[in-house]
Order: sequence, then structure tokens, then C-alpha cells
Amino acid sequence: MHTQHSNQKRDLFRERSGAELHINLSAIIENYLFLQKKVESARCSAVVKADAYGLGADRISKALAKAGCKNFFVAYLDEGIALRKILKKEFSIYVLHGLIGKHEKLFLDYNLIPILNTSEQIKQWYQFCLQNNVFYEAGIQLDSGMSRFGLDEKEIKDIPLAVWDAFKPKLIVSHLACADTPEHKENTQQLEQFKKLKNFLPNAPSSLAASSGIFLGKAWHFDMVRPGAALYGINPTPREKNPMRSVVTLLGKIIQIKTIHPKTFVGYGASYKAKQTTKIAIISVGYADGFFRSLSEKLYLVHEKFMHKPLPIIGRISMDSLFVDISSLPKDATKIGDKIELVGSFNTLDSIAHAANTIGYEILTSMDNRYYRIYK
Ligand SMILES: *Cc1c(COP(=O)(O)O)cnc(C)c1O
Repeated sequence: MHTQHSNQKRDLFRERSGAELHINLSAIIENYLFLQKKVESARCSAVVKADAYGLGADRISKALAKAGCKNFFVAYLDEGIALRKILKKEFSIYVLHGLIGKHEKLFLDYNLIPILNTSEQIKQWYQFCLQNNVFYEAGIQLDSGMSRFGLDEKEIKDIPLAVWDAFKPKLIVSHLACADTPEHKENTQQLEQFKKLKNFLPNAPSSLAASSGIFLGKAWHFDMVRPGAALYGINPTPREKNPMRSVVTLLGKIIQIKTIHPKTFVGYGASYKAKQTTKIAIISVGYADGFFRSLSEKLYLVHEKFMHKPLPIIGRISMDSLFVDISSLPKDATKIGDKIELVGSFNTLDSIAHAANTIGYEILTSMDNRYYRIYK
């Protein structure tokens, strides 16, 4: 009874929603297995920070754990705490922002591994371990050239040797700045710098590559790779055909249809003026849903029943809606409630990002909670 009731409730939510975000869990798993195979003996982990790039860290982590993924990365402590409620103790959860504030005990309570990024964080963790007389697992991040997180050469050399004697890092991490541009010389420089810096630390498993870094070659793989974007279908090799399977489909609904006369304006700022009699559909997705205003008049969408007929977005995208010109569709073929594909096979995350002058990561992480989510 209960499930029947909640199914009915879910159906009503689906009916009332402005748009549906379909998330293909089996495509994520296929992407994971593909990357694991590609890195051979190195371990493939999963980066599920920012709620798995907006797609649902709980559902995705559970599915990846089932598929054999043992190591997970989040950015914040509270993301780690939330994830530990889903993943059993045998799965490692690394917190990339490391130890911020005096929360050492929370890392222990939830069995989370901090990635220590500064000398202060290392000292603090060391003191905490001394007090408890146990050396708890922690990772160390090294700055191999990006100037973001981690210790540089001088900071590493300033760490008292006693610390390293007691403290065996669980994982040594660094991050690449230009991995999506294979010919960039920074890739080799960072690789060499990472190897050099690692020599000042006790021997420990290491990890340098995220999604794009995996495609630079075996030298960048070390013991573990940390893909996020590629798991979710973003192209890790932007110059080449996307080797990953597409994961998300975003379908917006038509909530109004009208026919306008020549010379009629459409939308804010009257930026668009109809040249002829035009049939327009108003779709219930706008920039508050993460469909950027900068995409106004830059993109074509498709009706799910007429995938071969691109429909231009006309006028400016509003907060909760946008307009498409549906004049090219067969007469009377469209009705209220019909679905228009915004992201999927016609527009990929990467092509939309290109039109919005950004990267697929930002398109994905901007996807709003107003979307009704369906996992496959
Ligand atoms: C976000 C992040 C990743 C994942 O990067 P992708 O490009 O999405 O694969 C890996 N490592 C670190 C340190 C990160 O911050």
C-alpha cells in the first residue's frame, strides 16, 4: 500500500514538474568500467563532490560501489559525512579540502580520510594523532604547478622529519591544470614536478590524473586516477570524439503555445521580432534552472517526437521559461505537455557549454533541483 501511495505521489510530482532530468546510471557504470579498463593496473576511483556534479551522489555512489569502485572523493567534510551514511566502512572516502577548523574527530567518527593541503593541516593532524597515540590515515596533496591546493617544495622540506617518520600518507595527490590540452607543456612539467616532490615524502600510493589526465597516457596514471566529469558523460578529450557514454537527458515541457503576427516582439527587451506569422512554444525551463541566459538565441532544441527538426530558441531566456519557434513542425502536431529536449542527443553538455562560452562541468553543476529526476 505504502509503495503504491508513494508511487502515485511521485507520478503527481512528475506531472507537475516543469522539466525532467533523466540520469542513466548504467551509462555511468559503463563509463566507470571503461576508464578502469583503460588504466589497467591503476585503480579507478570516483569523484562525487558537489552531489556528483549535481546528479545525485547517493544514487550514483551506491551504483558505482556495486560496480566495484572502492575509492570516492568529495570536496567538503559534510559531503563526506553524508556519503558515509550510504557507503559501508570498506569503501574509502577522501575529503579533498582536508582539515578545515578543528574537526579531526569528525573524520574519525565517520571514517573519512582528509587530504591535507597545508603544513598547518599536517601539523594539526600529527598533533591529533600524537594525543591519541594512533596514526590515522590521511592523504597529502602536493602542488605540482597549479598553485591551488597542496604543499610546494619549500613547504615540504620544512615539515619536520619526525612527522614523516610517524606518518605514512595513505595517498599522495596532485592535480593537473591543462590535461584537456594534451600538447600543453605544463602536463609534462607537472608530471616531473610531482615525481620530484614525491621523493621528499615516504613512499606511498599516488594519484595525479582526473578525467582528462587519464587520456594523457600511462605515465600520468600512477596508482589511482580520479575521474569525475568523464563518468558523467562530459568529453575528457575535447578535441576528439567523446569516448564516454552520454548520461543525462533534460526534457522541458511545453506550457503554452501561441501564434504571433509578423512584427510582434518576443520576450524581455523586445530583442526578437517575428518576421512572419510564427508559432511559438513556451517551455518551462529558464536560467533559474541552470539554463543560462547567455544561451538566448544561440541554440536549437528538438521536440522529442521530431528529433530531426531543430527549433531555434528565440528571444531572451527568462528565469523560469524560454521560447522556441515551432513553426516548422507539422500543423497540430504539438500540444501542451509535450516534451522538448534541451540536453541529450541533439545538444550535448559539451555543445551547450560551447554555446554558453563555458565548460560542460558548469552546465552540469548548474542543473536545478526543480527538475524532476528519473534514474534509469
Ligand atoms: C574535481 C576534482 C577531480 C575530478 O576532476 P574531473 O576533471 O571532473 O575528472 C579530481 N581531483 C581533484 C583534486 C578535483 O578537485
